[in-house]
Amino acid sequence: MPRFFFLIALLFGLLLTSVSAQETSVPAVDQAIEDRLDAVLNAANIETSLEQLTEIRNDLTDETPVMTRVRTLSYIALDHAYLGNQKQAAEQIEEVRRIAERSGLPDARAEVEATALLIIAMQGKISEAMANINDALIPLEKAQIPRVKYFVNNFAAYLYQQRSQFDRALEHLIYAADAVAETDDSRTLIRLLSTKLQIANLYGQQKNYDLALEQLDDATRIAEENNLMTEFGASIALERAYIESDRKNFDVALSIYKRLRDQLKDDPDSVNQYLTVLNNMGDVDIRIGRYEDARKVLQDAYAVAKLNPQQYNPDVIQFNLGYVDVFLGDVEQGLAAMREIVDNARDSWSPAEFEGLLGEYAEALVHVGMHDEAIEVLLEQRELREEAYKGDQQKSIAELQNLYDSKDKALQIELLSQKNELNQQLIENESQKRTILTLFIVVAIFAVISVILLYRAARRSNRELKVANSRLAEQSVRDPLTGLLNRRALQEKLRTPHEVGHDAMLLLDVDHFKRINDNLGHAAGDDVLVEVSKRLLQVSRESDLVVRWGGEEFLIYLTNTEQSKLPVMAKRMLDVIGSTPIQSGDREIWITATAGFISYPFADLHENQMDWEETLQLADMVLYAGKVHGRNQAWGVMALNKPFAEVQTLLETDLPGAIEQDAISVEILHGPEQPKNDS
Ligand code: GH3
Ligand code: MG
Ligand code: MG
Repeated sequence: MPRFFFLIALLFGLLLTSVSAQETSVPAVDQAIEDRLDAVLNAANIETSLEQLTEIRNDLTDETPVMTRVRTLSYIALDHAYLGNQKQAAEQIEEVRRIAERSGLPDARAEVEATALLIIAMQGKISEAMANINDALIPLEKAQIPRVKYFVNNFAAYLYQQRSQFDRALEHLIYAADAVAETDDSRTLIRLLSTKLQIANLYGQQKNYDLALEQLDDATRIAEENNLMTEFGASIALERAYIESDRKNFDVALSIYKRLRDQLKDDPDSVNQYLTVLNNMGDVDIRIGRYEDARKVLQDAYAVAKLNPQQYNPDVIQFNLGYVDVFLGDVEQGLAAMREIVDNARDSWSPAEFEGLLGEYAEALVHVGMHDEAIEVLLEQRELREEAYKGDQQKSIAELQNLYDSKDKALQIELLSQKNELNQQLIENESQKRTILTLFIVVAIFAVISVILLYRAARRSNRELKVANSRLAEQSVRDPLTGLLNRRALQEKLRTPHEVGHDAMLLLDVDHFKRINDNLGHAAGDDVLVEVSKRLLQVSRESDLVVRWGGEEFLIYLTNTEQSKLPVMAKRMLDVIGSTPIQSGDREIWITATAGFISYPFADLHENQMDWEETLQLADMVLYAGKVHGRNQAWGVMALNKPFAEVQTLLETDLPGAIEQDAISVEILHGPEQPKNDS
């Protein structure tokens, strides 16, 4: 369920709580005015804040330090933008930008540029903001005021998150947390909590639920210990409910939402949060099939959102209402509403959010049997998804997360120790001295021991090393779970010159495998993979290569196989997988799979025209078509009916079109009937 506006609100909330620069060095500020600015932000009342800010501006003189002027005027620009007065906002930005440029202060330029981009982002133009983010980030490198560093890094993190660049988002959140550490005023904890909420949100978006919940538990503890639950309770609960519903704990999510709904209903300052709650409740109702309930709660939400479009995008709710319509039988009306919103969202939503929207749209299309349209939508979604979740990105996230955790701990320890003052510090010094001494002794002992060990190891025979080496070589071609060849093994084999006769490839993907993991646990999922591997080996020949291609995807590379034999073989694969249940502990799991197959070389094409990877791509595309057409089936590409050059692009970009225009012929086989009661 789209929750685009929740983030905007979160960000704005952040901005309103990020206050009070505590400089020790240049650049200077007027502390009295800064305090007044803090007070305006603390009141967090958009109606009166513009008035108060205008009063403060009238008190500015030529003697007022640049940073204080820049801050005041930036806030005024933001207020204008927030109230929808884009023209005034733009004029205000121009004025304050001139001041910042003239001053040459990096802090001033970073603050102005980030404010200008935030205003653009508030209008939904995330790409435009993103394209210019360096205007703010370059001066930020030389900025010194913690408040500015905190604000700009937070904003950068928000933008990167919107663009699914999670590693960068996390990086900037770490910088923001560092900036928090440089302050030690009354608001340090508040900034810490805001940052934690954002990090939890980021983890949640990546489906890193445990880490997200850890951040929320931490935030709850800090808020409770410091009487900050009034400010943060609802935000924490909302994030928690979202994560719970995303990991399918629907009852937990609903009960949190209901509590929040009652709590926020009559609070005019919480319209956005209130609507987020209603919208997300509707989402949960949909996901557990209570469409009437969903319609009711979404209609309530829509009525309120229409009155407060600044607070919450009514499009989001309208889309969800369309979805409900489709499932309640008002197909035409529902699809029209959804299509309209999708077309609007394509350019203005973040890829991550838009990708989710496409998924739901495709579901609605499948539900009403519009398969061709659904494929198109799903292909668009898949492209976005592949961009978004690149493996190496995830890897650097893990590294950054360690960095964050250690810094986070250091900050908490620092806050604690500040309370305990000098006495404590003396004790710490003492114990530190002891620790250093102990460490020194330990290091010395280790040095002696390791010299002895090294000496003995060197004398040991080479045999162990050889065994280890051959095991390593084995591991690099075998998948550890199933013992099948891995992807790399096949790639290497096909890359080295070899005889290609009449080969073929069959790609097979277990259906709804995620449900097995989700419902029965990862271990059951592993059991299924091991058993599927065994069964595939059973029905394949000595000369075939059975490869674990990806998570629950298998590739069977068949050597010397006539095309006419392929359908029988594919059918045999579906049967061996789907005819008998898989034993996992004392449970029986029924599964099916969907496959795509093709001969290689395909249609006597030369390797230069279509190499094995491109051929496999075609098998993957028909597999995908099999998924969309109901799963438990195998699709084979059997013939090329037109000159390759003529249809190459069509094949690569529009498989349904290629089939429809008879550029290729496909043959479809169905797997065995499944017992009704699926688990
Ligand atoms: P579809 O019918 O569309 O293929 O649905 P699906 O649920 O199978 O689709 P998807 O490809 O999204 O899910 C694959 C899941 O396989 C996601 C991943 O968590 C899980 N997975 C990948 N590798 C392993 C593994 O080694 N063990 C287990 N238990 N699960 C794995
Ligand atoms: Mg898969
Ligand atoms: Mg699958």
